[in-house]
Amino acid sequence: MSLSSPWRADFPAFAAFSESCQTYLDSAATAQKPQAVLDALLDYYAGGAANVHRAQHAPGERATLAFEGARAKIAAWLNAESASQIVFTRGATESLNLLAYGLEVEFRPGEQIVISALEHHANLLPWQQLAQRRNLELVVLPLDAAGDIDLEQAERLISPRTRLLAVSQLSNVLGRWQPLAPLLAMARTQGALTVVDGAQGVVHGRHDLDALGCDFYVFSGHKLYGPDGIGVLYGRSEALSRLHHWQFGGEMVAQADYHSARFRPAPLGFEAGTPAIGTAIGLGAALDYLDGLDGDALAAHEAALHARLLAGLRRFDGLHLLGEPQIALASFVVEGVHNADLSHLLSEQGIAVRAGQHCAMPLLRRLGLPGAVRVSLGLYSEGDDLERFFAALNYALELLR
Ligand SMILES: *Cc1c(COP(=O)(O)O)cnc(C)c1O
Repeated sequence: MSLSSPWRADFPAFAAFSESCQTYLDSAATAQKPQAVLDALLDYYAGGAANVHRAQHAPGERATLAFEGARAKIAAWLNAESASQIVFTRGATESLNLLAYGLEVEFRPGEQIVISALEHHANLLPWQQLAQRRNLELVVLPLDAAGDIDLEQAERLISPRTRLLAVSQLSNVLGRWQPLAPLLAMARTQGALTVVDGAQGVVHGRHDLDALGCDFYVFSGHKLYGPDGIGVLYGRSEALSRLHHWQFGGEMVAQADYHSARFRPAPLGFEAGTPAIGTAIGLGAALDYLDGLDGDALAAHEAALHARLLAGLRRFDGLHLLGEPQIALASFVVEGVHNADLSHLLSEQGIAVRAGQHCAMPLLRRLGLPGAVRVSLGLYSEGDDLERFFAALNYALELLR
């Protein structure tokens, strides 16, 4: 069976890739963009760029409408009650740094921030640095045998001293959904704030954030088939109102004098300076594009890719998967072979995979590995991509072993 993607032709990058004999299997690092997103970027800029919220002229109004329209689309996509719960940032990383600064005054020395052992550096380092600044305890939830956050241990470790829980929805290394509902409930019971890193999770299916009940949720546009340079911080209104301002400048201020100022509430109060207007509009277009796809067909395609990826990898002797991925993303190591040598030989055959520590150094260290190779697919990926990858992997392993 060929397992072709009905949406492949929507992505112009694949024409370029096939001309240069490239197979792109690194979608969890950044996804390719559909023509609809490129068109939206071109439409906005070719129609006349203007700054948002400031200008009283027609181009400014047009830009503001499109920019705020994108915010409303994101709110609807996440089932947020109001567009004012959506703050634009440069990406998930910036959203998490915004939180670590914006919440700093919430903490008293000796209180705890709880994260997990599988966090991406973006959901580790801002909290680690905050803990150092405020003399807090950073608690790291261990993983169970499946590689998921261990709920029994979490029950023990999340305590009355816990002021904040920050965990990933879907691991970018292990490809597994984390048990968010019980974790968030444990944190809420202790009166702690909750942050969900949705950078990977947002890509796979629709999530109802009002139902999920976290205080904050962050993601980047570029992994969700949108442009780079744009990200989102979603917050419950009450949680957003607790944030202190962190970057200062134009547009975030309500009233300024030489020696004092009053700042706006979210979202604009957290968007100092000129925002990423075109890329926000591009992210809105990505959501429109995804909304237009047949959700059942998409889920079936992802499931078929997932099954074929895992079955194919399991045919290789000495290849060890890191856990049991639940999406079309797999990390692996091969006995006696260094991951960097492997990815190099794959790259020489035109196969783009990720090798190394996947921005999760402590996790790989805990697994006792210097690194791993990661293959991650997108909605445009096809069976042929996998066949080319398996053939190249076979050849590389023949050379290396
Ligand atoms: C990619 C990623 C991030 C960081 O996203 P940026 O777009 O690089 O800011 C954070 N968490 C996870 C799980 C990721 O996969």
